[in-house]
This record gives sequence, structure tokens and C-alpha cells, in this order.
Amino acid sequence: MNLFGKYGGYRKLPWKVPSSEACEVLDLRLDPNPLGEGDGLHEASAYLLAQYDKFHRWLDAEDPDLAANALLLLIGRTLNMLGRQKEAQGEAFRQEGGFRERLSAARLETREQQQAKADAPTCPECGKPMCQRLARAGRNVGQPFWGCTGYPACKGTREVSTGSDAHRRPTTPASPPTH
Ligand SMILES: [Zn+2]
Repeated sequence: MNLFGKYGGYRKLPWKVPSSEACEVLDLRLDPNPLGEGDGLHEASAYLLAQYDKFHRWLDAEDPDLAANALLLLIGRTLNMLGRQKEAQGEAFRQEGGFRERLSAARLETREQQQAKADAPTCPECGKPMCQRLARAGRNVGQPFWGCTGYPACKGTREVSTGSDAHRRPTTPASPPTH
């Protein structure tokens, strides 16, 4: 409670920002983080030591006032960085949703792909499974059609049925075609 009393008349104020002492500490920039380059642990440790060395003359100063003031400024910088990171994460959440939401979206996409495979007919020419393609030329350019997975050896195609029941199959495993 009685901080000033406890520390025996320590009544110095922290450096003003901006002041020449404070700016000297604040103007020092960190090098770009080499995260992901080379041997992660070794590179990261070398990076941290190099950044520490930039502030060595304050942080390891004989004068405790120098060290304390430099630490206060660096704590302030750290809080600013964390604040910006938090804002960026908030923005990413607004744009892309949270982990569970993205997980569900990925699962839905995979399920739709599985469903599309299960719905795929077999080739009328050779019996291989077919997959949907888009016509690149001709009368139906841009329209989807079923093409044989044996293409180009097999040129079998089928029209894509536009009926809505094609997409309304139950999600139980598809039974083999009976034709
Ligand atoms: Zn075929």
C-alpha cells in the first residue's frame, strides 16, 4: 500500500516521453524476425541475443535508474505490439471466423466432395467412374458435363442431370449403380 514509504524515499519520476533519453531507447528498432528460416531454435536464440545486445547498455547499466527506465519503455513497446496483435487477431476472426467455424467449413467442403464422388455415374463406354468437367469449347462451352476418368483413352461423356434430386441423396453410403 505504502509503496514510497516501503522503498525508503525513492521519489524519482520515470523519463518523459518524448525526451532525449527516452527517444534513444525507443528509436532502436528490432531486426526482422527470422522465424521459419534455417534451424529454428538456433536462429531464434541468436536473434534474441542480438536484439538484447542492442539494449545492453541500458539493461545492464550500473545505474539502476537507467535500467528501470529502459525496462519501462520496453514494457510499453511490448504492450503496444501485443495490442496490435490482438487487433489483427480480432480482424482475422471477423473475416474468417474462429477455429471451430473454419473446421466445420473444411469438413463441409470435404463432405461435399465425397458426396459429389458418390453421385458420380459410371462411363457408358467403359464403366469407369466419371467426374464433372466444364466444356471448354463447342456449343455447351462453360457448361458442366460428366467425363470419363479414363480420358483421353476413353471419350465417354454423360449429360449432367439438372434435376434437384441429384443433390438430394441421403448421406448413407451410395449403393452401386444397378444399370
Ligand atoms: Zn470411359
